[in-house]
Amino acid sequence: VFVVFEGGDGVGKTTQVRLLAERLTASGRPVVLTREPGDTAVGARIRDLLLDPAHPEMAPRTEALLYAADKAQHLAEVVRPGLARGAVVVCDRYVDSMLAYQGAGRVLAVDEVEEVARWATEGLRPSLTVLLDLDPDRAVAAIAGKDRLEAESVEFHRRVREGFARLVARDPDRYLVLPARQRREEIAEQVWRRLQPLLAP
Ligand code: C5P
Ligand code: MG
Repeated sequence: VFVVFEGGDGVGKTTQVRLLAERLTASGRPVVLTREPGDTAVGARIRDLLLDPAHPEMAPRTEALLYAADKAQHLAEVVRPGLARGAVVVCDRYVDSMLAYQGAGRVLAVDEVEEVARWATEGLRPSLTVLLDLDPDRAVAAIAGKDRLEAESVEFHRRVREGFARLVARDPDRYLVLPARQRREEIAEQVWRRLQPLLAP
């Protein structure tokens, strides 16, 4: 079972990934808690390059290919092995982030970015994608002072949000969309309930 959390910056993905992993562990299931970009040694170096404020000149296609490279490594080293040994793999961001940030955000053709992302991930799709949705105006406090993305306009983050919304509209059954303004325990509970049928042996 492969569970992905998606959404803009500052919506609480990392918190929810942790809460879900804790609950799964408490229920006695093997869990892999992971994130993109950066959760391998190679990926950590790619992440440093991607988030380095010293490179505002990075071209959108370069950025997309670096995210794709991180994904390929992450799939080979973390996601596939985790699934192969029967763990629930819980991931903070996956392909949809690339479609929303590099596609909608950087204004690259989403279908072209998707081809690259699918190739990098060998077409592996999540069992469930939880999209945490929040108005970027409300997320700015959490974004402030982070990294290269901090420099992006509210307009950029609006395109990203719209990008996620279009992905859901295309394939609604694959998603659990939750307003991120709820209490975190409330969100965690809804995720847990939605996950139960997927966890059944
Ligand atoms: O989720 P996390 O905070 O680890 O992401 C690190 C940074 O990378 C964030 O600023 C996020 O907006 C950015 N990012 C991106 N494109 C992706 C994934 C993450 O611009 N495909
Ligand atoms: Mg996070």
